[in-house]
Amino acid sequence: LRQVDTDKSYFEARDYREKAVTPFGHKGTRGRATVIAGGFGKMGAALLVLKGALHSGIGLLTAQVCPPSVNVVQTAVPEALILQDENDYVLGTLHDYSNQDVLVMGPAIGNANKTCILLREVLSSYNGQLVLDADAINILAENREMLEMLPKNTILTPHPGEFSRLVGKAENDFERIELLQSFCKKYQVITVLKGKYTAVCSAKGEISFNSTGNSGMAKGGSGDLLCGIIAGIYPRKKNTFETVKLAVFLHGLAGDLAKSYLGENFMTPSNIADYLSFAEMNLD
Ligand code: AMP
Ligand code: MG
Repeated sequence: LRQVDTDKSYFEARDYREKAVTPFGHKGTRGRATVIAGGFGKMGAALLVLKGALHSGIGLLTAQVCPPSVNVVQTAVPEALILQDENDYVLGTLHDYSNQDVLVMGPAIGNANKTCILLREVLSSYNGQLVLDADAINILAENREMLEMLPKNTILTPHPGEFSRLVGKAENDFERIELLQSFCKKYQVITVLKGKYTAVCSAKGEISFNSTGNSGMAKGGSGDLLCGIIAGIYPRKKNTFETVKLAVFLHGLAGDLAKSYLGENFMTPSNIADYLSFAEMNLD
């Protein structure tokens, strides 16, 4: 491995590694995640979420997709189980997710009426850890009464555009962080405001700034990968805030490794997924 600065960590890496899994661990120990992502013509978003979860330790991974997209997932991510949506072109079927440790919903799901209703049903019925990104965040921004339905410690991962739609426009970075804190406290959620120095804010309003990552990650698909990584790590770690900080850190570190080997203009979000294990090994 080329030398990458791992002295930037803001968490106890050793703590993470020791708790990874027991010698007698099985698939269930590693946890179950379902991903609701990828509308028609945008299945790449779903694949990147799945890769993120897969390359960060999930035990059993399920993809809820529309029938025409089943073969795409089965071919590109053979490890994933399929949960078919009843609709051909929009995601809108509520399944039983009660045995899933994590549910990720949002990347490239669009905002069709059926999808909005599905999100509403998920918010009112799912009891595990929820991770909402991209279009799920846009749906919340357009249907603000749904914000009151967010389960405590739901994880939201907006990029700056999604953030300003959800939380409002800020005059400057200081004001943006204040908006972030008051939003998280008000709705008791954890929000990842993505960017050059991604800010993670807890439901108590505690802020952590991430130091890994580079502009080679500024390509469609990088954010999808991040919400998959959160889902992959959460079942082993359980603590939501710690999970999110670690996931953001590893995502950026994998991006830094990809840059050091491939160059920032030529690396892809799929490459970042491939460097996740090296990033994890670099934590020691
Ligand atoms: P998204 O816009 O949802 O695809 O998310 C983009 C991802 O890439 C986020 O995790 C960002 O933190 C990361 N990213 C984008 N641009 C940069 C940058 N200039 N430096 C570091 N990370 C970045
Ligand atoms: Mg995104």
